[in-house]
Amino acid sequence: MSIISKKICLIGDFGVGKTSLIRRFVEGQFSDQYLSTVGVKISRKLVNVTDNLSPDKQQLQMIIWDIEGSNRFKAIAPSYFQGAKGAVIIGDMTVKDTLDHLLGHIQSFLAVSPKSNIVIALNKSDLIENEYLESLRQFYKFSEIEPVIATYITSAKTGENVGEIFETLAQKLI
Ligand code: GDP
Ligand code: MG
Repeated sequence: MSIISKKICLIGDFGVGKTSLIRRFVEGQFSDQYLSTVGVKISRKLVNVTDNLSPDKQQLQMIIWDIEGSNRFKAIAPSYFQGAKGAVIIGDMTVKDTLDHLLGHIQSFLAVSPKSNIVIALNKSDLIENEYLESLRQFYKFSEIEPVIATYITSAKTGENVGEIFETLAQKLI
């Protein structure tokens, strides 16, 4: 069994839930307490992936980068994206501005890492009426942008689709 490592960036406006999604995925926890990320935090998580070309089970070590950079005032430094093979780009379903900024984040990331894959996470679904979820997903799907491989409705609070965003990305990186 072989293990490969890939860098993944979490990108999105201040407060959309980047740190919370990582905590949910890596530690299986959620906290309502607001703890803004200072500097860069790097988390690691091993995920199982299937490789069609070999019968062996493979594992991928995801090196997940989280920054404070996406705060209200500061643009993300392009150097943060360097070497990334994938990104989760996140919007807060309850704050329209953060959804309208998704396209800009996609473009900034692809400018540095054009061959990378992207998964979109429309987060905080637990705060939105069920009937609106799918139409929001359709509207902010970005399926015309080839590197965008999937768009999920997520909740770091309930855990909805949190495993899926990272596993879909991991599967594509093999
Ligand atoms: P970041 O700035 O993007 O890292 O955002 P945080 O992860 O720090 O989250 C900002 C705030 O939103 C915190 O108070 C979190 O508890 C809250 N939050 C994050 N994800 C969710 C979610 O899925 N549902 C709800 N209800 N709150 C969330
Ligand atoms: Mg954070």
